[in-house]
Amino acid sequence: MSGFNFDVITLCPKAFELIDNLGVITKALDKNLIDVNLYDLREYGEGSYRQVDDKPYGGGAGMVLKPEPIYKAYESIKKLPKSKTLLMTPQGKVLEQRDLARWSTLDQIIFICGQYEGFDERIRCLADEEISIGDYVLSGGEIPAISIINGLTRLLPGTLGDPDSLIDESHNSSLLEYPQYTRPLTFKDMKVPDILLSGNHAEIKSWRRRKSFERTFERRSDLISNEIYRNSKRIIKESNQFIKFLKGNECDTYPDW
Ligand code: SAH
Repeated sequence: MSGFNFDVITLCPKAFELIDNLGVITKALDKNLIDVNLYDLREYGEGSYRQVDDKPYGGGAGMVLKPEPIYKAYESIKKLPKSKTLLMTPQGKVLEQRDLARWSTLDQIIFICGQYEGFDERIRCLADEEISIGDYVLSGGEIPAISIINGLTRLLPGTLGDPDSLIDESHNSSLLEYPQYTRPLTFKDMKVPDILLSGNHAEIKSWRRRKSFERTFERRSDLISNEIYRNSKRIIKESNQFIKFLKGNECDTYPDW
């Protein structure tokens, strides 16, 4: 069985040694669920100095990655039938959990990582999508690519010990995850909520659902107004119940989700 292929064009291949020390991701490599192939941009550089960058036309600070080495590296990669090329850039679409889910059915992702001031504009046409991992600027596309490899690999069948752990977690359903506790029962005078010790699975489920709503309303109300959320009838119903509950209207006990 061949695994999901991640092919990365980078000037800093050493950054990807991190993947060998990332728990479940490292196990996925060992089990051949994923393959990470690195294409060192320097090897595709020009002349005896293997030049990969140059000054920007029109002046300005910093260096820009030249187009030819990136093209050469890209052309040397064998493309699989279900393949996408992602360009790492702070100007791209901001990464969301649903992007990872969408890509998890592919066979291959090719990453193009920038460095310095970025890359020559003429490589943009190689990309199917331009992706940013957030509204801040890093020095290279390697950490963004590793973030995507990490987030996507944990969605692949066989990676996580218990696939159920994906169901309730934050961002899977536009809600943040409920609070989690493990032993000890009391830690520095802070006690685990009684409900979690009750053994009543229906009530525990309802408590967790309510806590997820509370957390999301308090911390990330923007998630609730986003499109997936608006389109999900079940969540709208639950959300209306929750708002009623918050306003103290009609409900004097917790709603039963
Ligand atoms: N001058 C560029 C930024 C260059 S940062 C600009 O203003 O758009 C150097 C490289 O790091 C980028 O080419 C990109 O590959 C990567 N990078 C930096 N921040 C990133 C982010 N938030 N998401 C994805 N890639 C990023």
